[in-house]
Amino acid sequence: MAAIGIDVGGGSIKGALIGEDNRIVKEAVRANSGARSAEDMAADMADIIRELSADCAVDAIGVGLPGTVDDAAGVVVYTPNVDFRLYDLRGRLLELTGHTVRLINDANAAAFAESLAGAAKGAESAVIVTLGTGVGGGVVIGGKLLTGYTGAASELGHMVIVQDGEPCGCGRKGCFEAYASATALVRMARRAMESNPQSLLCRLAEAEGKVSGRTVFAAYDAQDPAARAVVERYLDHLATGLANLVNIFYPEVIALSGGIANRGESLIRALEERVFSQVHGAAYAQKRTRLTTCNLGYEAGMIGAALYAKGMQ
Ligand SMILES: [Zn+2]
Repeated sequence: MAAIGIDVGGGSIKGALIGEDNRIVKEAVRANSGARSAEDMAADMADIIRELSADCAVDAIGVGLPGTVDDAAGVVVYTPNVDFRLYDLRGRLLELTGHTVRLINDANAAAFAESLAGAAKGAESAVIVTLGTGVGGGVVIGGKLLTGYTGAASELGHMVIVQDGEPCGCGRKGCFEAYASATALVRMARRAMESNPQSLLCRLAEAEGKVSGRTVFAAYDAQDPAARAVVERYLDHLATGLANLVNIFYPEVIALSGGIANRGESLIRALEERVFSQVHGAAYAQKRTRLTTCNLGYEAGMIGAALYAKGMQ
């Protein structure tokens, strides 16, 4: 059974035809930058669906969006960076293509894909944590996404890990996101640069014209004391949030994605002791929970949307 997964992002709308083995057979993409209306984006999605279904029968189509969706109603409730407000996307795509689509939050779609076809394939349960501009993720238990009563569950980035801590975009203080996102790492690095103007971190940032997560880790790898202090503190906070998630869900796998997770094994090794020393019943958890990185990359959002739609058939 072939399925289509669409991933709507601020820069592009990507679609993929997914085969029986959950791998991508064919891709189609449309640019999505600048101010675009919901109608324009729906028209692009319809184009992608027509292009990908031209040569084969498609049984399920899923669309992943960056925000709140009501899949039961087929409505995109709200998306912070692209312009959907209470938009009947299922109705519009049915008119344009004759196909019925399912809607899913994009972070949940990526988590679903990593659980069923990626880093946690075959695992009984998985928590996927994305470390990007913010901290997002999803929880999959027994092959099912944890969506909560309203569909808005798994906002992993907004559990408070420091009471009265750094301000978060959500309005609270001390959220996991305010300490473990790439944005948070850069904020900590900027502060360290102010008090360590002679550091390698400062020289690298000056040479690049900016400071990014990559700059901080480059200075860290070169043993710069200022960068090492920043990264150690960052890892401690990241580990606290991950340990909380292990304590709550006790998943078989906890997998990290996003730019920082590209450090792969060295990140996992630096985190393992920090995380499992905080886990309740540590000896048991070390045997049972596997900490790893995700492996589907940008394909995860499309594959997850398609798998979600297939499961809803
Ligand atoms: Zn928050």
